[in-house]
Amino acid sequence: MTINLSNNYRDLGESFSQKIMPDPVAQPSLLLWNAPLAQVLGLTFEQNKDADLLAQYFSGNQLLAGSEPIAQAYSGHQFGQFNPQLGDGRAHLLGDVADADGQRWDIQLKGSGVSQFSRQGDGRCALGPALREYIMSEAMFALGVPTTRCLAVVTTGQSVYRDRPFAGAIVTRVAASHIRVGTFQYFAARGDTDSLKKLINYSINRHFPELLVELGADTSKGADDNEISSQQVLNFFSAVLSKQIPLVLSWLRVGFIHGVMNTDNTTISGETIDYGPCAMMNTYHAETVFSSIDRNSRYAFGKQISIMQWNMTRLAETLLPLVDSDEDDAVAQLQPLLAQFHQEFEQGYLIMMAAKIGINEPEEGDGKLISELIAIMQKNSLDYTQTFTALTASLVDSLNDDSIEESSFTVLSEWLPDWQKRIAGFKTAAHKLMLSNNPVVIPRNHDVEAILATSQASYQEKGDLTALHEFLAVLRQPYTTVENTKNYQNSPADGDENYHTFCGT
Ligand code: AMP
Ligand code: MG
Repeated sequence: MTINLSNNYRDLGESFSQKIMPDPVAQPSLLLWNAPLAQVLGLTFEQNKDADLLAQYFSGNQLLAGSEPIAQAYSGHQFGQFNPQLGDGRAHLLGDVADADGQRWDIQLKGSGVSQFSRQGDGRCALGPALREYIMSEAMFALGVPTTRCLAVVTTGQSVYRDRPFAGAIVTRVAASHIRVGTFQYFAARGDTDSLKKLINYSINRHFPELLVELGADTSKGADDNEISSQQVLNFFSAVLSKQIPLVLSWLRVGFIHGVMNTDNTTISGETIDYGPCAMMNTYHAETVFSSIDRNSRYAFGKQISIMQWNMTRLAETLLPLVDSDEDDAVAQLQPLLAQFHQEFEQGYLIMMAAKIGINEPEEGDGKLISELIAIMQKNSLDYTQTFTALTASLVDSLNDDSIEESSFTVLSEWLPDWQKRIAGFKTAAHKLMLSNNPVVIPRNHDVEAILATSQASYQEKGDLTALHEFLAVLRQPYTTVENTKNYQNSPADGDENYHTFCGT
């Protein structure tokens, strides 16, 4: 087994992170190992043969070669309020590793002990939320959503106390990086322009090397001399913006509600991060919220793009002094990029929704067709995923146009003829497009909760995760009907009326 981590984030200096070792746990035991992800990372362990060793490595009891653990510093706006001092309070970044394409991936333990950023927290994670993150992030990956992923879940043999004791776990998170909007805010809030420049250079090297080429720089040297032109800063900001549009569009496509889009939970790489209070939408409503602490519905399903723009505006603010010493001039240069972001999102939204109804190149009038469908879904509390699955199925047999009505979608009867007329000339292509844009299965909240309940109960009794693995097998093929798919396609009987999710678990 040859794996060698590096951790050049640690080399950025003391202001960026705390060097700190994971806190060993009593009895680490490997519960979940993500073999497909391990393969991407070049980790050639075998789950059964190497289980004990993996438990040691992915609990933090032993370090993988080259690990140089750190807790990263960051700030963040939480529900609109700025908190200058967040940081990894229960996570250790072990380092990063390159895949076969040379892309580097952070390997981070979460629930691995306290750091200087822990505040009142215990540095630990309960098993339930660790399993939930694993299930949700694997589902999202399979759905084609940019996301952080989980490599392993290890139980610790120690209890974690929340409102009562729970089994403790450590989850290993893999991400293109853990650099957040809040990381930039951390230095901006401290007036530390030098560190900001370092962070931008590091981010360009790590995520946007094409910017180095564009500027005619010598890429072999990287951008590590810490000087940065205002044009480079603007290009960097544009590049970050362009990552966020596909991210939020894919959330909207599959009905994902992040639930805690604080700036510390917004990566510059455009990956979904922090699966604490997330949930999936069943019946369509733009105002859908499940998070117990989101009392003002700040992070409702339909607000996610305006919140992303708000978060990107916070990022822009950190960049002002690097764009121009005159603040008004700096604003004048950054503002058009945000305006363009909004426009590009609107265009992207039309293209994404058009694809969901089989239209490849939206034309005038398609926006109206889409908004009418959404209005019908919202008014009649139609299930978002099921509606598109039924529309897709209605095209399988061209003679079978009325299959939707048969499946009790009578409320769509006024809308259907307009849609059918629109796609009449390219039904086969429309069907194909719809199949790849409309999942037949998503990780529905009630199914996730039921699986978590049985997995935890059965684990404590006899280590049986059969139900969880069966669920994962279905979620890993969300665009195909496989054995057992039908067990996970139903809306909950109560419409998730009393479903609540939680942060900081
Ligand atoms: P989150 O709600 O997971 O985004 O976390 C917000 C902040 O609280 C981050 O700085 C976390 O590191 C910290 N945090 C959350 N849970 C814990 C915990 N159990 N122990 C220490 N810090 C925590
Ligand atoms: Mg977080």
